[in-house]
Amino acid sequence: MMRANILKDVNKIGLEDRPIPKAGPGEAVMKVTLTTICGTDIHIMRGEYPVEHGQIIGHEPIGVIHEIGDGVTGYEKGERVAVNAITPCGQCEYCLSAHWAQCGGFLGGWKMGNTIDGCQADYVRIPNAMANLAKIPDELSDEDVLFTTDIFSTGLSGAESADIKVGDIVAVFGQGPIGLSAVAGAKLKGASLIIGVDTVPERMKMSKSMGADIVLDYKKTNPVDEIMDITNGRGVDVAIEAIGLQESFENCVKSTMVGGTISSLGVYPTELHNLGVPNQDFGFGLADKRIVSTLCPGGKERMRRLMDLVKNERVDLKQMITHRFSLDDIEEAYKLFSSQTDGVIKVAIQP
Ligand SMILES: [Zn+2]
Ligand SMILES: [Zn+2]
Repeated sequence: MMRANILKDVNKIGLEDRPIPKAGPGEAVMKVTLTTICGTDIHIMRGEYPVEHGQIIGHEPIGVIHEIGDGVTGYEKGERVAVNAITPCGQCEYCLSAHWAQCGGFLGGWKMGNTIDGCQADYVRIPNAMANLAKIPDELSDEDVLFTTDIFSTGLSGAESADIKVGDIVAVFGQGPIGLSAVAGAKLKGASLIIGVDTVPERMKMSKSMGADIVLDYKKTNPVDEIMDITNGRGVDVAIEAIGLQESFENCVKSTMVGGTISSLGVYPTELHNLGVPNQDFGFGLADKRIVSTLCPGGKERMRRLMDLVKNERVDLKQMITHRFSLDDIEEAYKLFSSQTDGVIKVAIQP
């Protein structure tokens, strides 16, 4: 048997004993050595995103290979691996059209802790193992690569989808884990100036550490006015939305220049017709502005690239770990992470 964090009811999660999963054909079972809690897990716990009650949640595993299913080659038991939240099959029409995250259809690449048991447990079963088990370079610790499993891949993809060009000015609204990762992504893509927007002091400080040049406190200043001042009235080339609120989405539209790109990473709780694209700021549809949205790219090749960025010190993700818990204390970890108190940015959970 193993310990596993179960979604029991709305606002009720907790550990239960469950059988250790078995690897079917093409699958593997991983012994989890480190994982974390995602903002999405909080939505799941609150009943804002539907996951079946009784399921194991969590989708960001680091660990070692415990069992290898029939037909899986190129791996050995005991190897250290990381698996992305998105586990594409690599064979369907969506995967073969390079829409890995949408494997099999909308949101279909997100399986762990969504449509199958997740990884906030001692062990987790990995589907399509050969497409998804990413070997961790020896010189990297579990903590070094923990955030390649979701938030860094997501944040960076916001910068990639926006097609940031060398010298672009980029604003990132929201400096939670995803926004901070988008700042790091904008820097990697060659932005000449990066403006972070938040109000929590620890996040504003971390924003600079992840690569922001200027961090605006939206409670002390109007971020759109400030951005217009900073850019001499021109606006930014790219604005990245990393919260999922109408106001920040509107601010992205308002603060982009003519021909600019709004890159949306937030998950929106309201209907899109309530999202309110400000007409004048959208140039009445004539401003050559572009709105793009992205779900976390996954699969082992994406993971290899992200881990190489960490290995060659292009980015330091570990600094976002502010709190550490054992799996036994996962309820306490959820309480802290969901309340966003004590300067928490991300928690690490050790089974
Ligand atoms: Zn996540
Ligand atoms: Zn697929």
